[in-house]
Amino acid sequence: MVGGLALPHTQPFIPPPPPPPSRNPASHVSEDGPREQLSCLPPLHQVKTMEEFKKLHARFIKLGLDRVPRHAGDLLLACSLSEWGSMDYARSIFLGLDDPGTFDFNTMIRGSVVHGDPQGALLFYPEMLRRDLEPDNFTFPFLLKACSQLSALAQGLQIHGHAAKRGFQCDVFVQNSLINMYGKCGEVERACRAFEQMGACRTVASWSALAAAHSRMGLWGKCLELFAGMTRDGRGADESSMVSALSASKNLGAYDLGRSIHGALLRSFTGLNIVVQTSLVDMYIGCGCLEKGMAIFEMMSEKNAWTYSVVISGLAMHGEGERALQVFSDMLHAGQQEPDEAIYVGVLSACSHAGLLDEGLRCFDRMRLEHRVPPSPHHYGCMIDLMARAGKLKEAYELMENTPAAQTEAAWRCLLSACKTHRGDLELAERAGRNLKELNAHNSGDYINLSNMYAEAKRWGDAARTRREMVDRGLVQAPGYSRVEVKGKMHTFVSHDKWHPQRREVYEMAYQIEWQLRFEGYTPSEDEEERRRRMQGGGAESQKLAIAFALLNTRQGSRIRIITNLRMGKDCHTYTALVSRVFEREIMVRDRNRFHCFRQGVCTCGDHW
Ligand SMILES: [Zn+2]
Repeated sequence: MVGGLALPHTQPFIPPPPPPPSRNPASHVSEDGPREQLSCLPPLHQVKTMEEFKKLHARFIKLGLDRVPRHAGDLLLACSLSEWGSMDYARSIFLGLDDPGTFDFNTMIRGSVVHGDPQGALLFYPEMLRRDLEPDNFTFPFLLKACSQLSALAQGLQIHGHAAKRGFQCDVFVQNSLINMYGKCGEVERACRAFEQMGACRTVASWSALAAAHSRMGLWGKCLELFAGMTRDGRGADESSMVSALSASKNLGAYDLGRSIHGALLRSFTGLNIVVQTSLVDMYIGCGCLEKGMAIFEMMSEKNAWTYSVVISGLAMHGEGERALQVFSDMLHAGQQEPDEAIYVGVLSACSHAGLLDEGLRCFDRMRLEHRVPPSPHHYGCMIDLMARAGKLKEAYELMENTPAAQTEAAWRCLLSACKTHRGDLELAERAGRNLKELNAHNSGDYINLSNMYAEAKRWGDAARTRREMVDRGLVQAPGYSRVEVKGKMHTFVSHDKWHPQRREVYEMAYQIEWQLRFEGYTPSEDEEERRRRMQGGGAESQKLAIAFALLNTRQGSRIRIITNLRMGKDCHTYTALVSRVFEREIMVRDRNRFHCFRQGVCTCGDHW
């Protein structure tokens, strides 16, 4: 360890073995020699393959040019940073150098990072310090990049200290790399501090790195604020900040904003790369515009694992199970993309949302046996959900019993709520409840489900005991909210909203809607859970307020898009379906689990959610 730098998984620095390629001992290098001899060799930048490079390297050795630091440095650079390059070969050249300097170390650090070996990159640094070489403003950015790839905060902090000690506080590249590193390590505050310290030196990359840091932590509002700040600051946003802003738009359901970013992208860049295109697909599908997202997806000439995972999971959210499976099978057919863990989460959840039990079981086997993707708790969660929704409660329970990895909080909760939905097995529900308690998972919804089941079985004593336990533990449901976008601005409603400036009109409208719906046969649900949701400020009320607000403030016939953080209740589902018919509006609601698109009184989920 040098300079107190603790490295992860410390491998000792590999001592230089004897120089690998055979050197010609007779070759003598004079001061003028290299230049003359070099002129008869093809230039390095014309090399296109490793084979060509090896041949050229052999000629360098023959002429003794590889002993000249400048040429050796060029060889190293070409071999480690070219597309055709090889880090193993570059390492052998490096180890053969008599006296590698800062430039050579920088090349190796950078090459390792570029070739996906951040661990290896970090190992060069202590050796560099041991040799009394001064790191420069090319060393730190790549070391910090290695730390961000590893999410190695401790190492990042030490490298930050080293950079500060050497006076790189004002170096734009070092500071931008710091913002990036802190962002990737989830240290938003430190990222902000590094950003603030830059003052007037900030570049587009600094703004963009900070926006990405917020987006990674799900601080969507702040991310959009930064995006706006960046434009106010007179800087054109770059692709990377637009990607962060698209992701924020998707998560907030800010469709108009997302669409305007799409417009800006088309105006500012010719040809969008795969990351930007996938972000666009994700934004459109996430904001409920499935067909727009699919149109971009179909036009993409290149697609990667992320693209497929976005589309398959997106189709799953929209309840389009068959279509998701079709995209998956097209992907396998094209043979360009091996299915990975994330893609299979999408596939299994598509089966689950569409109630495709047999297909789901087949996919699960295929995942493990054919594609050798080890099932994660997430995959098991999808399988439990799939079985439980299909009413196969016993099978779901058996799968959980036999698989420790499947016994997660989410899976037990899913089983418990399926027991309630299928009016099934109280004993199984009790077992799920006990397991949740053992996992120390205390959620008001679980207690309510169990207590309702006791009540249905007329076990009033147990029902009361469960409720009391919930109250004793001080459990309350997360406050529900609904968001709706009107004229490019997001409006958030909570139940019994007392803050919205237009609340008077909104309440009046909600009251009128309810009366109108009553003529259509609507009666507010008397289900106990629904009543509690209303009383505790659940999603139901907030969603009704958001609908009233949208009806007041948008033009007749236009589509309404709502995002809510809770799972939609039955009452609210019926209510929204009726509004869509009576007021002739298409209403799209993204709840915690999936999309509901109401048209003419019918929801795309087919009342199955
Ligand atoms: Zn629905």
